[in-house]
Amino acid sequence: MIYDLIRYQFDDKTSLKRENVLLVSLGCSWGKCAFCDYQDDKSSSVLACDAVNKKVLAQVRGKEIGCTCLDVTCSASYTELPFSTMNYIRNTCVEKGIKTVILEGHYIYRDCNPFYVDFFESRGIDVLFRCGVETFDENIREKILNKGLPNVTPQQIAEHYQWINLMFGMEGQTFSQLKADLEIGSKFFKRINLSIYTTVPGGPARDEAAIKDFYSSELYKELLANPNIDIFDEWDEENTHNVGHDK
Ligand code: SF4
Repeated sequence: MIYDLIRYQFDDKTSLKRENVLLVSLGCSWGKCAFCDYQDDKSSSVLACDAVNKKVLAQVRGKEIGCTCLDVTCSASYTELPFSTMNYIRNTCVEKGIKTVILEGHYIYRDCNPFYVDFFESRGIDVLFRCGVETFDENIREKILNKGLPNVTPQQIAEHYQWINLMFGMEGQTFSQLKADLEIGSKFFKRINLSIYTTVPGGPARDEAAIKDFYSSELYKELLANPNIDIFDEWDEENTHNVGHDK
């Protein structure tokens, strides 16, 4: 079903000012990630997806607010948005002066990327691809998170994706592992989205102590000063850390 969600946000806190849209997809074909509770926001009807997505895209302001970057996420991968929605995205970019579009998705769709590059480049728009990795710890990523990237190396991901998502704060993750993930991520990718884990039904537990330690660490201060890393924490309802999309 299609949920009632905040689907447009202008993020001007980050070093790369961008408009974020959360669109409705036809559904995630992978659908196995243990931490994912957003894949139910979908419809099998292209018309229903497009009806919502057009309204969301109508909120994009682009050059009116000095923004030339559009970050597109959905409850699945970019390949699982209706093609008609992809066309609306491109039209919006042209009309609003958006020069870079970010598409997020699963590694299994990597071979489709050149198609999207051609599709947007034909209107002078660059595409950056972001891959959900969560951690480079293969054991956690595949055995606990069911991410679906078995034996895939950072180098292989970097051949197709310029940005990645990492996640920290679930039971079993350690501080040293977070540091290792950030080191690998910074070495192979242009930008990292670090999400602080939010508990989902049936998923791993949130490690409150580890998250508290993280927020009081020197590492956290360093990350805040790093222009290539964005931190998101939906749980942080008071937004005391001034991160994420909740305010
Ligand atoms: S690929 Fe993305 S949408 Fe699909 S289950 Fe995993 S996190 Fe959720």
